[in-house]
Amino acid sequence: MSLWRDIQGTLQPFWVTLRNMMRKPVTRQYPEEKTVPSFRYRGRLVLTRDPQGEERCVACHMCSAACPVDCISMQAAEAEDGRRYAAWFRINFARCIFCGLCTEACPTLAIQMTTDYEFAKRDPLHFVYEKDDLLIHDGGKDLHYDFYRHAGIGVANPRGKNADEYGPVDPRSLLP
Ligand code: SF4
Ligand code: SF4
Repeated sequence: MSLWRDIQGTLQPFWVTLRNMMRKPVTRQYPEEKTVPSFRYRGRLVLTRDPQGEERCVACHMCSAACPVDCISMQAAEAEDGRRYAAWFRINFARCIFCGLCTEACPTLAIQMTTDYEFAKRDPLHFVYEKDDLLIHDGGKDLHYDFYRHAGIGVANPRGKNADEYGPVDPRSLLP
């Protein structure tokens, strides 16, 4: 019985080798042959703009608070019309683990992941991306989302003039 088991154990690896010799190779000849990642691939991060072309980021620090490796930093500033923005915004991709938690935390859809996976560099300092490197002239995955039309009350539009918003109500008018 044990002899039969030994014979089986000896032949089995040969059978596995033979079987796989007949298979088509799955190796991809990268970089000549590119991989096309899926739409939900978690690649390089970008900062997007709203449909008016304004920066979506309101420097709320939610993304940096959610980041488990503390690789996002920024400085908040306020424009004359009261709209907040990031005076500077920095991501250290040498530390980023591409978990996507920052994109989930962002209330304005400003920070989004792209399918770009080709940004290997020799110098780790080149992985530090500033706002100019991150900001794109596009809405990313949701072109029509406009945070300020809903939540920028009194900033982008006067009170009561935003989409899906009723005007202010005088509580005294509700008295019997
Ligand atoms: S993907 Fe994850 S690790 Fe990278 S910046 Fe966002 S939260 Fe941080
Ligand atoms: S990217 Fe989003 S979460 Fe991060 S500071 Fe800007 S608005 Fe807030």
